[in-house]
Amino acid sequence: MLKGKTAVVTGGTRGIGFAVAKKYLDAGANVAIAGSRQETVEKALSQLTEYGDRVMGIWPDLCSPDAVAEAFGSVRERYGSFDILANNAGISSRTSIYDYTLDEFTKIMDINVKAVFVCSQAAARLMREQGGGAIINASSMVSEYGQPSGCGYPASKFAVDGMTKSLARELAKDHIRVNAVAPGVTKTDMVAALPREMVERISAGIPLGRPGEPEEVADAYLYLASDASSYVTGIVLRVDGAARN
Ligand code: NAD
Repeated sequence: MLKGKTAVVTGGTRGIGFAVAKKYLDAGANVAIAGSRQETVEKALSQLTEYGDRVMGIWPDLCSPDAVAEAFGSVRERYGSFDILANNAGISSRTSIYDYTLDEFTKIMDINVKAVFVCSQAAARLMREQGGGAIINASSMVSEYGQPSGCGYPASKFAVDGMTKSLARELAKDHIRVNAVAPGVTKTDMVAALPREMVERISAGIPLGRPGEPEEVADAYLYLASDASSYVTGIVLRVDGAARN
């Protein structure tokens, strides 16, 4: 589905991002995994040696326009095109409003929102030059109803939905599609960090009766990156077993 295309997956070192990178590689794409540190990127690459030169690593500061532009440029130079950006990197929070520090709020907005803006801008510039592309953002099921603690996290995902719908309209003329994937509870480190009772309580309320697998979320990223979704832009695709928190 992606033969000959080039993709960057931010936060591709583990969890959903790693599953997306693997899915894209299996679909024939060249993939650059963008992580926060060289060490974690190299660890991820060591698990993808079967793909040879079709996978590489980058670790720019995702909130730095210059660093991101340089890193994305190096990806295009290596593979000859820049077709897909999966803005997957993100962090969560469940701190009470009474304890929330401005630093924590800023940190979550930086990686969950500012980095999506910075990376989308750099990617859009490259995609426009070559005549189009696809951007897929990481939303969350909490972007519909919020959540009862850690307000910065749902606020950041509401922002992601807003940016997705707006950029879809702005970039359509340049043949760049922009969509988001909104996972429900998915079995990754992010969820492993939550108290077990919380995960059980949430899982009990999922009509499909279980948390999602990273590969199931990655399937949505594959669909939205491929020509199978050529007339789809500006949507938030919910991959949550019909969960409503
Ligand atoms: P995870 O914690 O397992 O992985 C997050 C990834 O983001 C890691 O690779 C991490 O290195 C990267 N990252 C974090 N900060 C970064 C930074 N400053 N620079 C570069 N990379 C950075 O999380 P996950 O569960 O795989 O979540 C991936 C995305 O999906 C996130 O945006 C998250 O909000 C969203 N999501 C996850 C779930 C879930 O249940 N797991 C549900 C809804 C939405």
